[in-house]
Amino acid sequence: AIERPVNFIRNIINDDLAKNKYQSVRTRFPPEPNGYLHIGHAKSICLNFGLAEDYQGECNLRFDDTNPAKEDMEYVESIKRDVQWLGFKWAGDIKYSSNYFEKFYQYAVELINKGLAYVCFLNAEETREYRGNLKEPGKNSPYRDTSPEENLALFEKMRAGGFKEGECVLRAKIDMASSFMCMRDPTLYRVRFETHHQTGDKWCIYPMYDFAHCISDGIEGVTHSLCTLEFQDNRRIYDWLLDHLDDFSRPDRPFQYEFSRLNLEYTVMSKRMLHQLVNDKLVDGWDDPRMPTISGMRRRGYTPASLRDFAERIGISKVDSMTEMGILEAAIRDDLNVVAPRTMAVMDPIKLVIENYPEGEIESIQAPVHPQNEAMGTREIFFGRELYIDRADFEPEAPNRKFMRLAIDKEVRLRNAYIIKAERYETDADGNITTVYCSYDPDTRGKNPADGRKVKGVIHFVESTKALPAEFRVYDRLFTVPNPAKENDFEAVLNPDSLIIKNGFVEPGMADAPVEQAYQCEREGYFCRDNKITDRLVFNRTVALRDTWSQ
Ligand code: ATP
Ligand code: MG
Ligand code: MG
Repeated sequence: AIERPVNFIRNIINDDLAKNKYQSVRTRFPPEPNGYLHIGHAKSICLNFGLAEDYQGECNLRFDDTNPAKEDMEYVESIKRDVQWLGFKWAGDIKYSSNYFEKFYQYAVELINKGLAYVCFLNAEETREYRGNLKEPGKNSPYRDTSPEENLALFEKMRAGGFKEGECVLRAKIDMASSFMCMRDPTLYRVRFETHHQTGDKWCIYPMYDFAHCISDGIEGVTHSLCTLEFQDNRRIYDWLLDHLDDFSRPDRPFQYEFSRLNLEYTVMSKRMLHQLVNDKLVDGWDDPRMPTISGMRRRGYTPASLRDFAERIGISKVDSMTEMGILEAAIRDDLNVVAPRTMAVMDPIKLVIENYPEGEIESIQAPVHPQNEAMGTREIFFGRELYIDRADFEPEAPNRKFMRLAIDKEVRLRNAYIIKAERYETDADGNITTVYCSYDPDTRGKNPADGRKVKGVIHFVESTKALPAEFRVYDRLFTVPNPAKENDFEAVLNPDSLIIKNGFVEPGMADAPVEQAYQCEREGYFCRDNKITDRLVFNRTVALRDTWSQ
């Protein structure tokens, strides 16, 4: 049963299955291991793995590792971890394009034998010149009509290390007058004396993306090969190659379909820019909670369910657009509102002394873990003579009648506890408030005052002797403009206040908060325990309680 909304890709698949073009669906997610995955990749993962799930097919995880210079095992490991964390299972063993290097070579030989590929010795500048432009057809390379025998010998020599980097390439013989520039005899192989993370020094020629991708899809029996719109023109090469190789020129071969990539406001998604942020130490690594990487968002407190839900909300289309951050945040809020246990945390503490409360006495209170879900049980909190409240919750004089917090001679309820009234306060030498002195009404714990007076304001607190010191990391957008990628210098538009650290207190029950476990710190936002710094209590703010983006 397919419950997800119909989109143009589902229409294609439904149609293909109805016509018996394929017996089952196989997709693939093909990251290049040259960086960490980001939220844009999550869109592609949810699409490819989601389709496989819904059609009872399979989805391969394939490392598109044909460009050894920029790739690394660190990225391979992080990508596996991120896909699993999102909740998906790949079909069988992990695939590597580099596993097919010998096969790729043989398919190149097939093209050479068919007179459809040649070794070209034009240098980069000449190649550009010969290619022509959109207004003018290109010119044939002087090497284009070399015989298959001669080309085979040259290609073997390329493989054997007989040519220097840049000296020659293998090109497909397609059409130097094509209106698709990419079809003007695209490069299939180049010489690179690089050590590869999977194949070591076995190879000194490496296939290009356009050659390796369609053949990898063919080898793996992929049916629907989904990629982003910038590969639209390359689809011609994809089709040309598969149609000219005997193993793949069948009606049930893979076909490529393009969808629009995710662009998210106030962040960047290009790997080049993400690398720059990490290398220039503008963030604290790939998993900095401000990064749009899956590992950063995980550390920030995003849940797999929220990212999958986000992918559903934005859907799949062929229209390029910029997605508002508010959509992502709505997805995580909607998840956490239901599942996150409630707790009280004071992030900018001042002391509150209840003068009519017996000295030395502490009382225990069972507070609900989730006010709307009794099944989540209760937690133990404490109340006593000395508490902490947030600085913002007290003003000596209420600024207006709508002020629902504490002021002198005004009453508020302390969440889960009693009604109190502020009597006087103390300041330090600079005039900052340090302590508020109050009285409490002992007959108001968990109930309204007997005399019928109405107390509307509620503020949160922690009991001072039981409270645990904690650090709170409050994050804001990483950039000050919606589309930093289009700036000349995107580092110039970094938000200097993207991280604000506050030191305060949490309930004692938070001592053993598991890393990445989400909490709603009531009235403050959703937070989770940091998964990297664990020797003390550090909490990352995942998201505020309400949308602050549209202001
Ligand atoms: P970059 O261009 O920044 O290097 P990439 O697209 O080359 O990124 P890959 O590792 O090749 O990164 O991407 C793996 C898969 O994820 C591809 O199928 C790609 O289309 C998809 N993908 C990458 N970025 C996005 C995005 N922003 N939105 C949707 N899909 C994406
Ligand atoms: Mg790339
Ligand atoms: Mg890519």
